[in-house]
Amino acid sequence: MADSREILLEVKGLEKSFGDRKVLNNIELQVAKGEVTVILGPSGCGKSTFLRCLNGLEPIQGGEIRYRGQNLAGNAVDWREVRQHIGMVFQNYELFPHMTVIDNILLGPLKVQKRDGKEALKQAEELLSRVGLLDRKDAYPRQLSGGQKQRIAIVRALCMNPEIMLFDEVTASLDPEMVREVLDVILGLAQQGMTMIIVTHEMGFAKSVGDRIIFMDQGKICETAAPQQFFTKPATERAQHFLDIFQ
Ligand code: ADP
Ligand code: MG
Repeated sequence: MADSREILLEVKGLEKSFGDRKVLNNIELQVAKGEVTVILGPSGCGKSTFLRCLNGLEPIQGGEIRYRGQNLAGNAVDWREVRQHIGMVFQNYELFPHMTVIDNILLGPLKVQKRDGKEALKQAEELLSRVGLLDRKDAYPRQLSGGQKQRIAIVRALCMNPEIMLFDEVTASLDPEMVREVLDVILGLAQQGMTMIIVTHEMGFAKSVGDRIIFMDQGKICETAAPQQFFTKPATERAQHFLDIFQ
């Protein structure tokens, strides 16, 4: 965890409903710069919805989300701008199928950020080489394995120079032999001090990458703990039950 407790993201009393069904209830969270927060919890407990709220993909019904003090709960928020600072990678790498790898990556930097082409290309190539895929830059998504596509999706998000990265079960659709190559990229980001919120069902990874674990159940945060503590002695019975199933 970063020494300075500079808070990048602050969530207070977040409420989210679909119709009259409440799926997030009084969520509270503070994320400091450089901190890696791992969210665990059973299927349907609200993990994806929570990340989607943080990225402006779901309107919220109550509470506050602040990024560097700016309240993102209002109507006047320019999410296109905010998403340049809070990047997100999904379970199903949503690469554009008709575009090459490099064009997928450069789309945001050139069209949204209006950056210099040469400079953006240089960064894209550096990131591609970091994930071992520079030689695939002219390939189309259909020519790549799932693990390669997911590493490209991560590079695409990183090329916008976000300050925070959100990962929603990014290895859940992958064949087992490809999970490691994607997790290793995220571990590398953690070592470089990237601020991240990671939803995963990979328990070993959660333990090694997380500065802290948040355990959610039925739309609420049940428990927040250091990984060592959470995995050896969770405070709640629900978390223990969850671990019994997943470990
Ligand atoms: P998780 O990611 O933890 O599996 P989700 O955030 O996907 O959980 O879902 C939380 C709850 O919200 C679930 O009960 C799910 O069925 C419901 N839900 C998610 N998205 C929608 C939606 N677009 N419309 C209605 N209900 C939804
Ligand atoms: Mg989910």
